[in-house]
Amino acid sequence: MSFSALGLADEIVRAVTTEGYTQPTPIQLQAIPAVLRGQDVLAAAQTGTGKTAGFTLPILHKLSSQTIKRPSISRQPVRALILTPTRELAAQVEESVQTYGKYLKITSTTVYGGVNINPQIQRLRSRIDILVATPGRLLDHVQQRTVDLSQVEILVLDEADRMLDMGFIRDIRRILALLPRQRQNLLFSATFSEEIKSLATGLLHDPVIIEVAQRNATPDLVAQKIYLVDRERKRELLSHLIKAHEWYQTLVFTRTKHGADRLVKQLTQDDIPAVAIHGNKSQAARTRALARFKAGEVQVLVATDIAARGIDITDLRPVINFELPNVPEDYVHRIGRTGRAGIQGEAFSLVCVDELDLLRNIERLIKRSLPKEMLDGFEVDPQIRPEPIPNGRSGSRQPQRGRRNDSDYPAAKSNGSPSHQSKKVIPRENIAKTGNNITHPVTHPIPKQVISRRRGS
Ligand code: AMP
Repeated sequence: MSFSALGLADEIVRAVTTEGYTQPTPIQLQAIPAVLRGQDVLAAAQTGTGKTAGFTLPILHKLSSQTIKRPSISRQPVRALILTPTRELAAQVEESVQTYGKYLKITSTTVYGGVNINPQIQRLRSRIDILVATPGRLLDHVQQRTVDLSQVEILVLDEADRMLDMGFIRDIRRILALLPRQRQNLLFSATFSEEIKSLATGLLHDPVIIEVAQRNATPDLVAQKIYLVDRERKRELLSHLIKAHEWYQTLVFTRTKHGADRLVKQLTQDDIPAVAIHGNKSQAARTRALARFKAGEVQVLVATDIAARGIDITDLRPVINFELPNVPEDYVHRIGRTGRAGIQGEAFSLVCVDELDLLRNIERLIKRSLPKEMLDGFEVDPQIRPEPIPNGRSGSRQPQRGRRNDSDYPAAKSNGSPSHQSKKVIPRENIAKTGNNITHPVTHPIPKQVISRRRGS
């Protein structure tokens, strides 16, 4: 099936052909006709599946084929609104809109926080058909009356699960209240929690439900391996691996912003050019870091989970988890940065004794055991006892005064849900050696503790 057979305008088919796409991906095959028919869509899809084009292409087609009579007022209403959780994803989605719509007379822009609002206000004065926005900044514009959402025909919630994780539910509900009742709604989410289901129930009318295989979680497109190593030797092992394999364009994940900065300093000392991207950096610094990394000026990009959302870099290899994420779904999101668009990717995780519970939760989520290896010269010291992992997110019921939130997730407000972090630590004896270089944690029951995804306000 070709893009033109899906009924998309010639200008759009030409643009995707220029991008080198020959065939629609499975999600595009299902989403494009449904959106063109005007139906609501509920899609379980992650980044890397081609979901952005899945909603962008039919939106461009619909908006360009329906000429609307524009009111003669100064502020032109937005026709399609795409909400994303992060600035990076907003920028990337809008770049896709521009790319796929380059032969059309459709206009678009993005609004997100962390940058001066005035240039955005300026741009919103002209006609904007498609607005890509993060919820908080969009509401700033609403408050300043610099955007008109009263004529939105199509609403997209992209990475809806992540928006809820980041505490945007109230903002989303406030935005929904500003939109016309009669509109098309498209909801994309990698996971389906109870919150997502309840959001979808209130939002979508008789939706077409699309599920594509969780490609990122399949073993064939991303080769995954665990390096077991001592906590204090991770940095040394990372530098060793990067140099020995001559890895370039390596994306490294840390759990905290502070950890990302520290690792950049250490890698630089090891003569490995690195730069960090996380929520404490200004948007300009984040954009600059990403551009330098994409241009090959720096070898390693060290990122926190939130900052890395939506990063789309061709030829990215490999992804390294310097630290495992507290939330197992983040592992899937992280490794989804590689192995994109059908190219084989690689993901390695440096795991110390403190993180074995986290590893077990990940393996349970992806329904497979990951191969584990200990490198010669980096054998784990059986004397080292596990230590609790500091949780960057507030894990207590009451927000703690003066407690620094070093993760990129907003410090959660009291919502009574349990902590993400598994407080249970596995005794060191439970790691058994099997053969020369390989160790496997001895299986023992996974704690019943619910790893719940923290919601903010
Ligand atoms: P997404 O899941 O939207 O983040 O897209 C993942 C990557 O797949 C992006 O780099 C797209 O440029 C690429 N892509 C999207 N659609 C196609 C297609 N039909 N064929 C090949 N690559 C695609």
